[in-house]
Amino acid sequence: MPGVVKALQLKREHRRWYVIVIAETEAVSLPEGARSIGVDVGIARFLTTSDGEIVANPRFLAASADVIADLQRRKERAKSGSGNRKRLRRALAKEWRKVKNRRRDFHHKTARALVNECDAIALEKLNMAAMTKRPAPKPDPAKPGAFLPNNAATKGALNKSILDAGWGQFIGILAAKAEEAGRRIVLVDPRNTSNTCHICGERCLRPMQRLVICPEHGGMDADVNGARNIATRAGLGSGQDARAA
Ligand SMILES: [Zn+2]
Repeated sequence: MPGVVKALQLKREHRRWYVIVIAETEAVSLPEGARSIGVDVGIARFLTTSDGEIVANPRFLAASADVIADLQRRKERAKSGSGNRKRLRRALAKEWRKVKNRRRDFHHKTARALVNECDAIALEKLNMAAMTKRPAPKPDPAKPGAFLPNNAATKGALNKSILDAGWGQFIGILAAKAEEAGRRIVLVDPRNTSNTCHICGERCLRPMQRLVICPEHGGMDADVNGARNIATRAGLGSGQDARAA
């Protein structure tokens, strides 16, 4: 263990035990990095930086949401108190554990890469509730006004719990790594970062999720534009050149 161990905790999750070691270490400043960036986090993409780097949402989240939804349905249909139901409950707990572990690992790796390369990282102060949306209802073509079932309740709630739990954790991990490395995290007011042109400040149109159109400067990637506004608001400069694609 690096550092001085301050506490040990034992934690039980279902049938597993974990040992948590809390140690105090000295901050070790990393050599100066070349980048200062704004970061836009979202649902369609995990994150987009003001210099054009895109980190996609890992596919395992969507895959696990399907597996969990399926197990959940089967568990609800199984007779209560039966061995089958018990088995399904364990399978569900196992799948959740898998998602959590893989998500945490992904957060650590993504945060590590950003902290290694960047001196300052700006993010929006997030309103978690606004970040996750239910899937759009599917209109039924045979019956105007009626909607086809799209498993919105189950799927929506699942995606929400999977993604929601993600953001707070990621930002916590990023902040801890930044502090340890002597890097700066700046949190900015999130108002209108997505629909304002980062070049001229005009209000943009947003005809689709991934695109904003400034009356003066034309169409731009919505997330990159948002990330550049975040960088500007944090005093990190704007209009940064895109990295080589
Ligand atoms: Zn503009």
